[in-house]
Amino acid sequence: MSVLVTGGAGYIGSHMVWRLLDAGEEVTVIDCLSTGHDWAVPPEANLVVADIGDQESVQPVLKERGVDAVIHFAGSIIVPESVSDPLGYYLNNTVKSRALLEACVNCGVKHFIFSSTAAVYGTPERAPVSEDADLHPESPYGNSKLMTELMLRDASAAHGFSYAVLRYFNVAGADSKGRAGQSTRNATHLIKVATQAALGKRDGMEVYGQDYPTPDGTCIRDYIHVSDLVEAHYLALEHLRAGGGNLVANCGYGQGYSVLEVIDAVKKVSGVDFAVREADRRPGDPATIVADPAKIKAQLGWTPRHDDLSEIVRDALDWERSLERRNTQQ
Ligand code: UDP
Repeated sequence: MSVLVTGGAGYIGSHMVWRLLDAGEEVTVIDCLSTGHDWAVPPEANLVVADIGDQESVQPVLKERGVDAVIHFAGSIIVPESVSDPLGYYLNNTVKSRALLEACVNCGVKHFIFSSTAAVYGTPERAPVSEDADLHPESPYGNSKLMTELMLRDASAAHGFSYAVLRYFNVAGADSKGRAGQSTRNATHLIKVATQAALGKRDGMEVYGQDYPTPDGTCIRDYIHVSDLVEAHYLALEHLRAGGGNLVANCGYGQGYSVLEVIDAVKKVSGVDFAVREADRRPGDPATIVADPAKIKAQLGWTPRHDDLSEIVRDALDWERSLERRNTQQ
């Protein structure tokens, strides 16, 4: 048995690769290195630099490596970018996922785990939101992921492979052993931006919108430590291999923090009072998104081990400092 990780040179994918290797799995990574880095892939994993939409590259890998499970991270993930470039998002996240899925069906892959997103809920009617809530994404990003969820459901029914859809809330932090972290150039996610501001890698930061219907007027999100997220994938893999059946589940803690609370945490943990400027709302941002994680806890026995905002921030800061050292060494 061996596992193919698409996007394994990226942020979450590289943590997954480490987790699988720690468990003694044979791991192959396919990544086109558009945002990921070859150095992020441990040498014990086999890195194939290719596009997931290119079946002529993907199918030989699936066959030759005897892949029984694919964990599909590769994709574009920035909500406002999807608003300005919807067709790019439908290509990367939907069209190429379709090609990958077809390659998997052609090669008899048994299990497929898909990185989906809380953005499929749009602005949920309730917070915390559970998996049976209505799905009405508010951005092309959310639409592009929802379409792939639907393809998976239908293709699984027709072709018999099993799948898990994991809907991520806001992933942050880094491997506590310092082996992996968020290294994407020009990253836009809140905790990454705030840690860069704290370390003087950027001149302060902006808060996008302070007039949302939340207690302090800024958006509320459920920040999940990347190591807990990756553990959910590992448990999903075991569940599928054991014949546990298809699963669609939220990955979050059920605890929300506002943008200002996150910035406060970064200031506190770093000890740096960086500049914070008010800016207009960002397109595509719902006010509050918090997970109901009851299903994944019940079905996979998932237990959060890093559900502490200070720990998430500390690990993110440590990684950001290590990137600084890497850059000065180069
Ligand atoms: N945000 C912000 N300033 C930044 C980056 C993000 O105010 O420099 C806000 C953003 O508008 C959203 C929240 O932080 O309300 C989380 O955004 P992020 O991009 O991290 O994740 P998303 O929820 O869009 O996936």
